[in-house]
Amino acid sequence: MAISGLESLVERWERLFQDYFKEEIESTALLYPDKKSLLLDYWDIDKHDSELGELLLEKPYHALKAGEKALQSIHSIAEMPSLHLRIKNLPETRKIEIRDLRSIHLGKFISVDGLVKKVTEVRPKLVEAAFQCPKCGAITRVKQEENILIEPNICPSCNRKVKLKLLPEESIFIDSQKIELQESPEGLRGGAQPMRLVAYLEDDLVGNIVPGDRITINGILRIQARRRGQLKLTEFNRVMDVNSIELKEQAFEEILIDVEDERRIKEASMDPMLPVKIRESIAPTIYGLETEKDALSLQLFGGVPKTMPDGTKIRGDIHILLVGDPGTAKSQLLRYISQLAPRSIYTSGKSSSAAGLTASAVRSDEFGEGRWTLEAGALVLADLGIACVDELDKMNPKDRDALHQAMEQQEISVAKAGINATLKSRCALLGAANPKLGRFEEYTPIADQINIPPALLSRFDLIFPLTDKPDKERDEALAEHILQVHRYGEMLERNESIEAAKIKPIFEPEFLRKYIAYAKRNVFPVMTREAMDRIKDYYVGMRSKSKETIPFTPRQLEAFIRLAEASARMRLSEVVTKEDADRAIRIVEYYLTKVGMDRETETIDIDIITTGISRSQKDKIKTIVDIIREISQETDAPAPFEEIVSRAEQEGIDKATVESLIVKMRREGIIFEPKHGRYKLTQE
Ligand code: ADP
Ligand code: MG
Repeated sequence: MAISGLESLVERWERLFQDYFKEEIESTALLYPDKKSLLLDYWDIDKHDSELGELLLEKPYHALKAGEKALQSIHSIAEMPSLHLRIKNLPETRKIEIRDLRSIHLGKFISVDGLVKKVTEVRPKLVEAAFQCPKCGAITRVKQEENILIEPNICPSCNRKVKLKLLPEESIFIDSQKIELQESPEGLRGGAQPMRLVAYLEDDLVGNIVPGDRITINGILRIQARRRGQLKLTEFNRVMDVNSIELKEQAFEEILIDVEDERRIKEASMDPMLPVKIRESIAPTIYGLETEKDALSLQLFGGVPKTMPDGTKIRGDIHILLVGDPGTAKSQLLRYISQLAPRSIYTSGKSSSAAGLTASAVRSDEFGEGRWTLEAGALVLADLGIACVDELDKMNPKDRDALHQAMEQQEISVAKAGINATLKSRCALLGAANPKLGRFEEYTPIADQINIPPALLSRFDLIFPLTDKPDKERDEALAEHILQVHRYGEMLERNESIEAAKIKPIFEPEFLRKYIAYAKRNVFPVMTREAMDRIKDYYVGMRSKSKETIPFTPRQLEAFIRLAEASARMRLSEVVTKEDADRAIRIVEYYLTKVGMDRETETIDIDIITTGISRSQKDKIKTIVDIIREISQETDAPAPFEEIVSRAEQEGIDKATVESLIVKMRREGIIFEPKHGRYKLTQE
């Protein structure tokens, strides 16, 4: 290498700056200290001085230090002690996956992509400590380059062995922040655990990123000593000192779609059989569940998110919940979707991760070195994708509260100690839950059967119960299917050629993932008048048909719209047609007849989902309330159970119903039990 000696290197930078970057430096200088960095594109340096470019990559500490020195010596910015030189857009050969980082990368300028998992609060860090000698008063300055404070134990001025006093006001601090970057899930093969990298940000880089951000960090990999107690270990950690950060702006940037892919995508979109083909590409080893798979197909594409002129946001993501008996392939479906959909996460509600489903802010010694650390949970990490949460009913109470905001506003706010942040969670939720009693009961409202509050249930666009009831015809077909799948599997193990058409997806997951990313990135369909009329007529018609119950609320109306938009998007259509509206209606209707049906009146009743109590039950509750009031007024005491039952029977309500309604009424806080077997109204 032709460049040698620190002086000539600084001169080289000076020449480069003078010749090509003078204006940029001057405009940066005008904004100082609001702007504290000169950010240059690697290729702009390499273009003019390729040796300097090479040196930057190979000896970045050295090269950057000289560059910053050169910046300082340029006349117009002499009064700026800490102007940083930051370099972005490194060559492709310098882009290293976290899992491929090795010792040869130590001390080199490299570029790493990932998903921000944790950030600590910003803290001031001592870079130059000023010490004063208590005996002679002399001030000594010591540069601090390690995490542990370096303190001289002899005064260099008077040579006495004394404890020097730190003078904070004379010392120099900069802001520092520690982050943890995790490999993007897209890069992972078959459920491998993501690898992580710890990185340090300083000065003007701090405070700009939050967990869930997808970024590229450019910086220098270095080692960090590990200790066990007082002992230093020979194995080191690798960490990165970040020089610059690039935020990924475009959605699904990580999925590359070339010209040939685009041609195939467009061709597939014209196929009238497309919806069926996509459905059959979802978990082909799982038999049946056609409507459920149709709904999952639409969820993969999602509706169109909207921001109204007044700032109100309406989500486009479709939330789906699968509830049902054990062994009905819920977990299988979730796993399949999480591997198929771009940017998706599979997790369990009872997973032990501290961040849980939403986010957590904890004071952590292990990662944060005593600082508060903000960590992203599944719904943040799945931003713009699908969060597949198994055993949703087992989530912790803290998540349960935060989930409302995450599902509707699609963000999660955290305000705690040094941390105040809003994290994006623009994802669709695909949840699975098991019934409380082990098996799903068709005639019991869903809200009574699972351990998820009704208010949260009503946030789901679709809820599908999966039941496993003996049914000769279906059992035979299912058994045949599962046996065939296993037989194919066995033959594959023996390397025998087979006609595996039945279990091979029509579209390879690889292709479907690209298709979805393409559609979500480029297609934003708009309703046609016919589609609007179709949905409106259906909505108004259903509501006016049933006098007693409320089949739909505006929430379902939004579900229709989202599903219809997703259907159009799947075809890469810019408009939502009547047929799209029909598909949406068919799916919502299927779901409501399964979970929203009032079995007594045979009508759809959305109250069953939102409150767990149907209209016909409500009428009975009202009757029981009247009875309890009557008895209490007559006797001036709480109403005994037997008396309630006998009067209710006269009104045509049987004992079993009274029993179950009383349980509900107590749970809802309508009545209480001051004495065993005697009930009183909470409000007279
Ligand atoms: P769950 O999470 O609902 O309890 P799982 O997803 O763990 O159930 O499924 C249990 C097993 O039963 C899996 O091996 C799955 O493949 C099989 N299975 C259940 N239903 C079907 C189906 N409809 N078609 C094929 N296999 C099924
Ligand atoms: Mg399961």
